[in-house]
Amino acid sequence: MSDKMTPKEPEQVSCDICMKEVPIDEANSCEAVDYVVHFCGLECFQKWKENKQLEQEK
Ligand SMILES: [Zn+2]
Repeated sequence: MSDKMTPKEPEQVSCDICMKEVPIDEANSCEAVDYVVHFCGLECFQKWKENKQLEQEK
């Protein structure tokens, strides 16, 4: 019997803006009120921030 070691796969999260999957280590995240959003990069983070501001102005 062989006890196979399964390599740990890095946890993937999907970007909240473009839905691209990125390893959780590389993702930018932001804790919103009651959930955490992840981004593939600062560009998407900026977009999310802008969207949020627009929502608040409605
Ligand atoms: Zn993205």
